[in-house]
Parts: sequence; structure tokens; C-alpha cells
Amino acid sequence: MALIVQKYGGTSVGTIEKIENVAEKVIAARDAGHDVVVVVSAMSGETNRLIELANQITETPEPREYDVLVSTGEQVTIALLSMALNKRGYPARSYTGSQVHILTDNSHTRARILDIDESRMREDLDQGRVVVVAGFQGRDEQGNITTLGRGGSDTTAVALAAALKADECQIYTDVDGVYTTDPRVVSDARRLDSITFEEMLEMASLGSKVLQIRSVEFAGKYNVRLRVLSSFEEGPGTLITFEDDEMEQPVISGIAFNRDEAKLTILGVPDQPGTAYAILGAIGDANIEIDMIIQNVAADSTTDFTFTVHRNDYDRAMAILEETASTLNAREVSGDKAIVKISLVGVGMRSHAGVASKMFKALADEGINIRMISTSEIKVSVVVEEKYLELGVRALHSAFKLAEAAVV
Ligand code: ADP
Ligand code: ASP
Ligand code: MG
Repeated sequence: MALIVQKYGGTSVGTIEKIENVAEKVIAARDAGHDVVVVVSAMSGETNRLIELANQITETPEPREYDVLVSTGEQVTIALLSMALNKRGYPARSYTGSQVHILTDNSHTRARILDIDESRMREDLDQGRVVVVAGFQGRDEQGNITTLGRGGSDTTAVALAAALKADECQIYTDVDGVYTTDPRVVSDARRLDSITFEEMLEMASLGSKVLQIRSVEFAGKYNVRLRVLSSFEEGPGTLITFEDDEMEQPVISGIAFNRDEAKLTILGVPDQPGTAYAILGAIGDANIEIDMIIQNVAADSTTDFTFTVHRNDYDRAMAILEETASTLNAREVSGDKAIVKISLVGVGMRSHAGVASKMFKALADEGINIRMISTSEIKVSVVVEEKYLELGVRALHSAFKLAEAAVV
């Protein structure tokens, strides 16, 4: 007998029929003799609908009130799923994040989990009940409701699995595992039987939304066995694993992309100590995260900077940059929201040269101009015009032969 934490995402609980289907899947695990804790998301589209309601009142709702609002979606699905289980003669109890003591810090809208008291869940499990917990939410020290950032139910599931020392954390979604790239963009993308934590972390942070990045961090840190599976089809899914030295690693495991970036440029700033700090420090002080940064080689003792931020932060970042530009006497400021970042990820890159040049050639062959480049040990990222996203990802998927299983 094992203890399993299962998480069902929004599309898996999007209708009453789908919630009944989830109940059947939970029951199958119970009938196999397992203890089950289930984490559910809000019905698909519900969180967006709630955010939209808030935005009809104000574009800048107080983060505390935003969290009270958007956390309600999950309260609906926990109750419905528990009813579906109880109706079938399988006792279940639903809990909000706060009720099972998911304690977080107080950074509303993107809170981090600090502690979980698993005793209440343990009591229910001992009584033979299924425990159904609302994903995406917790409470801070003062008892305020907090949320964990978009996609945060994945993190709730992994954190509960860690706290309960579960045998496995299963993330059920609308695809049957982690693929070489988003199967909605590349039709011959291939499901991976396994992927290392390190690669999954890069894929998630570079834009693959199949798992929230914090859930992968958490699972790696607390050694949680994590698997991604389909809610609608049987299959082994994808296991996230620790790197196995014995195993021959493919050079590239996957391609991630991010449509949420925007780039800003400041031209003709003095090439002297303190300039980078003046430009980027002001952005950082406004709590805007910067992703890629490029500084050009100086000419005539002036230089140019380009950097990217989340698209939602673009307007704010631009306003700050314009102020800095007038202080520094810069020549010009420009920006572009219609860009995307495409990244190749693979631990095998460490021991193989030539990945970047092969990438650039594949893009050049399609006439795709590269605007920015950044590399690290296990990834190469490029920024290109948004209209080339699909073409670029498909070209790279085929240039690196990702549809074919790696020959070991
Ligand atoms: P859920 O609502 O279940 O949390 P998400 O929409 O958050 O589901 O995540 C699943 C989606 O992630 C898939 O429908 C797929 O389009 C997308 N996705 C992006 N990259 C990948 C990838 N490499 N492998 C699988 N799915 C991916
Ligand atoms: N419902 C939340 C969202 O849409 C959390 C989740 O689905 O993981 O972001
Ligand atoms: Mg998700």
C-alpha cells in the first residue's frame, strides 16, 4: 500500500462529467489499496474569469483582495469532487489550503510555502477517507489568504507530497506526459519516458507551462517522486528523475518557448561605471524581473543596452526607462512587445560543442532573424519576432531530430 498525491488541473475538472471522471480515477487508486490525497485546480477558465471580474473594477486590485477572489475557484472543485466520491461510497473530505495549514509568506499573488501541518490530513487518511485539498492557495502568519502564482496547484501537490512523505506525486493534465516540446505547436513532438529535474527546471523556467517551476524546485529539493500523466488516457506518463550517470544523455531533450516577454532598448548612454546600475537598478527597484541583458560594445564612448521583461511589466518598465534616459542624456529609447524566446534544453549539451551554431543555422535556413542570444551550461535561448514562433520551434525540432527516440 502506498500513499499517493494526485493533482488534477483545470481542464481535468472543467465540467461535472470530468469531475465524475476524476472521482473514478481516485477510486481506482483506492481500490488498488492506496491512500490518496487529491489536489484540484479551479475549473478551466475560472481563474481567468475571476481576474477579468477584478479588472472590470480596477487594473490594479490590492494583492490581498486579489488573492481572496482568485482562490475561490478551487473551493468549488474540492467540494464537487468530494461529493462525487461520497456519492460513490468512498468517504472524502475537502479542505481549503488554510484548513490544512499551508503556511506561506505574505507575498500575495506569488506566495511561497513555508510549512505544512499534515496531522489533519493524516487523521482522515487513517479513517479511510480521501483528502481533497484546494490547490494554489495558503495563508500567511496573520491568517490572510494567499495564492501561489499561476499554475500554483502543481506546487501545492508537490509540497503536500513532501510533507506527507508520499510515495509518488502524480500530476494529471490534458497531455499524457512531458514532450520534447509543446505538442500543441509541433504535432510530431515525442513524449519522454523520463526527464531530469535539472532539464525540467530549465524547461519550466523557459516557458513550458506543463509544470509550475516552483513545483519542480520543490520536488528536487525534497526528493519527491514526480510524474506527469493524462487524466483522459491510460499510460506511464513522464517520470522526473535525478540524473543517472550510467545513462547516455541525448544532447537536446526539449525545446521551450515563452510568449510572455517584451524587450526594451536604451541607445547612446555613457560608457562608464555605474551606467548599467542606473538603468537596470531602477527597473529592479520597481520589482520588475529582468530576464536577458545585452550591452553593446562601446562606440564614441557611448553604448546601448537591451533587456527583456515580462510583457505585463512592459509599460511600467518603459516609463522607468524613459526617466532614466532623460537623466543619463540617452539618445533614444525603443521597445518591442511582439517578440518570443525559444530555448533548447539538454544536459548532454555540457559535453557537446556545436549546439548553438546548429541552432543558428536551422533558424537562418528559414530566414528567421535572431535578435538576442543567451547561453548557459544546459540551454541556448534566442529572441525572435513573435510571428516566427511556430516556424522556429518546428525547424529546430526537426533539425535536432527530436521526433526520433535517442539511440543509446
Ligand atoms: P493544467 O490545467 O492541467 O495544469 P496546463 O495547461 O497548466 O494544464 O499544462 C498542460 C499544457 O502544457 C499542455 O496542454 C501543453 O499545451 C503545455 N505544454 C507546454 N510545453 C509542454 C511540453 N514540453 N510537454 C507537454 N505539455 C506542454
Ligand atoms: N487555478 C490556478 C491557475 O489557473 C492554479 C492552477 O491551475 O494551478 O493558475
Ligand atoms: Mg498547470
